[in-house]
Amino acid sequence: MERILEEAVRSGRGVLREGTVATYIPELAKSDPAALAAACCGIDGSIRSAGDTATRITVQSISKMASLGLALNICREDLVFSRVGVEPSADPFNSIMRLEMRAPHRPQNPLINSGAILVLSLLPFRDSNERLEAVLGVMKKMSGNNHMSVNEAVAASERNTSDRNRSLGYFLRSVEAMEGNVENILDTYFRQCAIECTVRDLAVMGATLASGGVNPLNGDRVFSSRTSIILRALMQTCGLYDGSGDFAVRVGFPAKSGVGGGIMGSVPGRAGVAVVGPALDARGNSIGGIRTLEILSEKLSLRVL
Ligand code: GLU
Repeated sequence: MERILEEAVRSGRGVLREGTVATYIPELAKSDPAALAAACCGIDGSIRSAGDTATRITVQSISKMASLGLALNICREDLVFSRVGVEPSADPFNSIMRLEMRAPHRPQNPLINSGAILVLSLLPFRDSNERLEAVLGVMKKMSGNNHMSVNEAVAASERNTSDRNRSLGYFLRSVEAMEGNVENILDTYFRQCAIECTVRDLAVMGATLASGGVNPLNGDRVFSSRTSIILRALMQTCGLYDGSGDFAVRVGFPAKSGVGGGIMGSVPGRAGVAVVGPALDARGNSIGGIRTLEILSEKLSLRVL
């Protein structure tokens, strides 16, 4: 297993030069484009890893799985999906175009930015801090890592350069698709995106979803099996934005990416498989990470499609 992980990371390193780290959030520009790591956590809790495993990244969009899972834990499924769709968008993660062009102005799915912001508005908490603590709590339960915390420098960096996400939030409120204080909702969003993790954390989070919502390290139930099915289905169809189809062909299991360079994969009934590699392709997905997962999928027969 270690040998296969190392071989896959070596192959992933071969394409790193074709990618670049995200710079639209200035603090992310400091990430190391040469870092690459992979980890696998079986649903029996056994963990193996290779590469630059000490690298810490911010989860960014991977946090959307925790906030959506939290919303499904608290609110009725039909209520959540009456406010946000479940269809792939084929648009970039921060696109505003379809939101305006189609009535009702409902975000296409909960994994693009507009959908994730809307999901946060459904959570019944008093303020941004309470809401953030709840999302962070879910992520800690998914990873079994109680020390997870927010990188406030990255959160501030995004907050200061967030014209697009602010536009999405205010647009949603202007067409009455979303209620609440937009600035408070965005504050939670920026901070949940800035939660730090390692490749190991991501692998355990993926394994929790793979095992039907039960954390394999401590046996804690985080989500119902129904919620796990919904989260994995959305990861499969929308998890890599407008690169989801290409990823399905090349890798073939549910996964969620983030512009910090992480990808959290989940192979139902088997394992969580994750990569960390901040050099991104043109769609904002880890370029070396996808290559690494492609090799792992083939060598370990992880394809579910
Ligand atoms: N915080 C990022 C943003 O809203 C998340 C995007 C991503 O990871 O894809 O732009």
